[in-house]
Amino acid sequence: MNQAREHEVAYFVEENRDRLVTLLRDLVRIPSENRAPEGAEAQCQQYVAGVLRAAGWDPLVYSPCEVPGLADHALYWPGRHYAQRPNVAAVRSGTGAGRSLVLSGHIDTVPAGSAPWTRDPFGGEVEGNRLYGRGSADMKSGIAANLFVAEALPALGMQLAGDLILESVVDEEFGGVNGTLAGRLMGFNADAAILSEPSGLRISPAQRGGRTLHITFTAGNAGVLDTGHAWGVIDQLRVFLQALPTFAQMRRRSAPSHPLYAHLENPVPVSVNRIQTAPWGTSEPTNVPDTCRLELFWQTMPGETLDRIDAQFAAWFEGVLGDNAALFAQRPRLEYPIRWLPGSAIDPACPLVGEFAEVVTSTLGFEPPVAGIEGPCDMYVFHEFGIPTLLWGPRGGNLHMPDEYVEIDSLVQSTKALLAFVCSWCEGEFR
Ligand SMILES: [Zn+2]
Repeated sequence: MNQAREHEVAYFVEENRDRLVTLLRDLVRIPSENRAPEGAEAQCQQYVAGVLRAAGWDPLVYSPCEVPGLADHALYWPGRHYAQRPNVAAVRSGTGAGRSLVLSGHIDTVPAGSAPWTRDPFGGEVEGNRLYGRGSADMKSGIAANLFVAEALPALGMQLAGDLILESVVDEEFGGVNGTLAGRLMGFNADAAILSEPSGLRISPAQRGGRTLHITFTAGNAGVLDTGHAWGVIDQLRVFLQALPTFAQMRRRSAPSHPLYAHLENPVPVSVNRIQTAPWGTSEPTNVPDTCRLELFWQTMPGETLDRIDAQFAAWFEGVLGDNAALFAQRPRLEYPIRWLPGSAIDPACPLVGEFAEVVTSTLGFEPPVAGIEGPCDMYVFHEFGIPTLLWGPRGGNLHMPDEYVEIDSLVQSTKALLAFVCSWCEGEFR
């Protein structure tokens, strides 16, 4: 560990923290909402490419759908559209013998949504230690940190022995992930990768998996209740929700335990995200709806497979239908709106995690927690390609909700450690 170099790097980030905040605010002010299957990342990606060019890099701006082999790959998810949605990647060649590294992030955000914000979702307002806006944490903070690294290396006169690759991909939200896959198939790979997701200053070498399912209940002429009312979708919904805790218990009992999730009371939660029936209001006739749709989401541990996950659900669900055969005479329809996102992990005892933790400790003065990240993301694609990868980024709040924010101090801290790690892993020397 080169302490003089780390000191210099930390000082540089502190001195230039306004630049870091400006990069983030600029990114937040250019919306890049993912509205699957479409998205609007182009303008933000132009900004990213422009910053890289100004810092002396030579970014490649390319469309995921032009990447040979993408649509044939086992991890490809069809049905998404990539017109005007380019990936950006740039390589800074090392002097030769050093280890290479990818800094990757997704530029798309979830939409601002219809729930009210107290701040402008695209204003990048700063108040105290917080910068607000859609993507301020997830994960334009990480893209800003990566761009800051891109500017810092030449500014510091830092020469790396290993190659450094910077990447900004489209379409990660809503289980997109094809942008990340395209990057791997383009060959922007290395000995390790850091995804600068807002991990809350924790090192996360693991992600939970997630399965999202839409169930549509439809009324049939199933029978008559004691009250004289015809059975309908609300009765189906009631029976389904009453039975759901048995599925949740089955998940808890059967999911394998994982050391990076041992701190959670329930590592594999099952949740109903939303329920939709007929519209309300006096413009509608007063009747009972004849369809009802429910979104179910359940999380999974690294190592669980799709076949097993789906078989387990089917066994439980068929039991519920069988026990209430008359009520479910009209079979509910099942649809998977997004891809299966597998849980994934690398060994926390691997050199990447150990060396990153050392750099954090010596740069920031605390030993970082090592824990799995709560939700699914695109890290598993790197793992599938055999690239040791972890998440590292700042603390934020209200992710995927109104008034999303990032804590500026923690962004400065995470960027210090990131830049120091780049210099350490790729063996940087001052020219
Ligand atoms: Zn994210």
